[in-house]
Amino acid sequence: MATGTFSQKVNRVTDAHVHLNDLASLGNLMEIREHLGLDRMNLAGIVDARSGAGHAQGLCAKVSGGGAFYCFGGLNHAAAISDGKVSAPSLAEQVDNLISAGCDGIKLLEGKPTSRRKLPFALDGDYYGEFFARAEQRGAALLWHVADPEEFWDPQKAPKWAVENDWACGPDDVPKEQLYAEVEQVLQRHPNLRVILAHFYFLSADLPRAERFLQAHPNVKIDLAPGVEFLFNLSRDPGRSREFFLAHQDRIVFGTDIDSRSTPAQAAARADLVRRFLETDRTFTIPGEADELLEAGGQNEVHGLDLPEDALAKIYSGNFESFAGAEPAPVNRESAVAECRRQAEIAAKISGTAPDDTEAGKCARMLEGLD
Ligand SMILES: [Zn+2]
Repeated sequence: MATGTFSQKVNRVTDAHVHLNDLASLGNLMEIREHLGLDRMNLAGIVDARSGAGHAQGLCAKVSGGGAFYCFGGLNHAAAISDGKVSAPSLAEQVDNLISAGCDGIKLLEGKPTSRRKLPFALDGDYYGEFFARAEQRGAALLWHVADPEEFWDPQKAPKWAVENDWACGPDDVPKEQLYAEVEQVLQRHPNLRVILAHFYFLSADLPRAERFLQAHPNVKIDLAPGVEFLFNLSRDPGRSREFFLAHQDRIVFGTDIDSRSTPAQAAARADLVRRFLETDRTFTIPGEADELLEAGGQNEVHGLDLPEDALAKIYSGNFESFAGAEPAPVNRESAVAECRRQAEIAAKISGTAPDDTEAGKCARMLEGLD
């Protein structure tokens, strides 16, 4: 499949939802970005406390990427998961540390059911209380993964790729509706919290509900990172879906969930899928070269929405820029090095590796050496 090009009439295309897995794959990600014609990428850092990977490499990408990258930092839960044996800054302090290092916002995977297995804390409970209070107070931009497609909770319907990734949910997992109820509490308690809920907030099977949700929470947006099910769900009644996109064109943010270890063909399939859905009036299926999470080569049809240029411009970059900043925030080199060193120390204690040899340690050294 030839890669299509994004509408030439939009000012910029910013992918709000990309993952840089490690420093070693930054070059590959830069090639992908150029190959696909994505002007900017937001690197959503999810911290692996054992290696310190997460925003550490995102901060390096910001410095070496010449304004092409935003970076949302992640939270380090080492203190909680080690029963206090390894200490880490409080979650509120982590908000301050990320902002002073030059992160553009904070990525949360903490609402995904599989994260809940490791961190068994209610999203509206004490554990996260001071985090959300500080994030609201600092006006931090949050990109938050909450819930999953409803079929993940149904053993008959859970897709094969979800089962293989251990994302399918059983009776011991948190129910989808409980996660939504907890988020509702958080948003009511913190009405100024600024949030993008990732993957259409997994509400695509119930568009009236998505509509009520957006109306109730004016500071909340949703992103279009597949979640391939949202494309299938919204293709059942493209006319109705198009109305939704036009009515909420200020609240919808382009994203792909490309990761830096993808092949160019896989990354192109992701970007092209969302692009064709937004821009064309064509009906198509998922190409065979897509990654397995997109159900490559499947028979499900996607029907394009054929959106007008002004709506596309907002979805492709305007909405993200008004949310996270018209330009990526500058990295404060000293604070960024200190942040990477903190992550490296924690990773070293957990893994037994020397701090300099952890992923965060390598990032600290790269940041010190870059000019
Ligand atoms: Zn993601």
